[in-house]
Amino acid sequence: MMAENKDYYKILGVSKDASADEIKKAYRKLSKKYHPDLNKAPGAEQKFKDVNEAYEVLSDEQKRSRYDQFGSADANAGFGGGNGGFSSADFGGFGGNGGFDDIFSQFFGGGRARSTQPNQPQQGEDLQYQMDLTFEEGVFGKKTTIKYNREGLCQTCGGSGAKPGTSPVTCSKCHGAGYIQVTQNTPLGRMVSQQVCDVCHGTGKEIKEKCTTCQGSGHVNERHEVKVTVPAGVEDGQQMRLQGQGEAGRNGGGYGDLFIIFRVAPSKIFKRDGAEIFLDKKISFVQAALGDEIKVKTVHGDVKMKIPAGTQTGTTFRLRGKGAPRLRGNGNGDQQVTVIIETPKNMNAGQREAMREFAKASGEKVSGSGKTGFFDKFK
Ligand SMILES: [Zn+2]
Ligand SMILES: [Zn+2]
Repeated sequence: MMAENKDYYKILGVSKDASADEIKKAYRKLSKKYHPDLNKAPGAEQKFKDVNEAYEVLSDEQKRSRYDQFGSADANAGFGGGNGGFSSADFGGFGGNGGFDDIFSQFFGGGRARSTQPNQPQQGEDLQYQMDLTFEEGVFGKKTTIKYNREGLCQTCGGSGAKPGTSPVTCSKCHGAGYIQVTQNTPLGRMVSQQVCDVCHGTGKEIKEKCTTCQGSGHVNERHEVKVTVPAGVEDGQQMRLQGQGEAGRNGGGYGDLFIIFRVAPSKIFKRDGAEIFLDKKISFVQAALGDEIKVKTVHGDVKMKIPAGTQTGTTFRLRGKGAPRLRGNGNGDQQVTVIIETPKNMNAGQREAMREFAKASGEKVSGSGKTGFFDKFK
């Protein structure tokens, strides 16, 4: 059951007299913003739940008016008058085949996604597509074609569901409204509720001769192809929206959208944060001490880099413009190269001698021999 003290209007950021359309728009925007797959920020998941809870109530005309009236969408709030409401046992004795939930859905129209005007155009569902990219594809982007299954409009009947040459007619049972009024006598009095019309299933239209391609649904399952330009500089977890590439709508409503979520693989060599690329580069202690010009890998190809004499291990050099393209903005970031100085191992006799000379020239007394073999280690 719903918590009673949440301000659902505030959660969706709409006014108390917001239209159903405004509520739907706010919901679509916020549910995407806080979707747990897309938003890993702390608190995002709770916000996502709150947004869904708020929408479930405010999108349903009856729940919404109950909420406006009693400050709660909880069905008991209207009846109970503070005396605790009803438990499911109270309803056990009547209603025939249904339990607690069924009775409430009869009384209040249920919590299903049907809008109160089911014959209105409904936009199709949004779809998600995960696209795996290599590290380099994330940096440079690419052009590609993706294929996926979706519910599309039937080409034979243009989505009407009627056999070509015929047209749907206004539903004879609901006269086009898409719903019917049902009056029931219950222990609580006469209850009038709206139900989706069982003849036209809410469309308000009856199809006398069905299209044979789609069997009257107006939709067909199709393999859909879209050309996608992956922008240079995308990062793991980022998403892109392609309008109208989701599923077909109903009653003339448009297609939903496709959300592509990029999964960018890590590199064995580079690390990346936004437009900045990072690389660790090993150099010898001689190169560090005397200075050198070395070859460094970048995503744009090898470049030369000067190591000044006397470079310390852990020093970072910046290669301007050798990073990834800035997704928003111009140009590239930089590549930052951190040099790691390697201490020589397994030196030969000549090297050891040179080192001893080096120590002497430095006025340094060193007790080690420079031999790294097992038996020599501690001599
Ligand atoms: Zn068709
Ligand atoms: Zn009907």
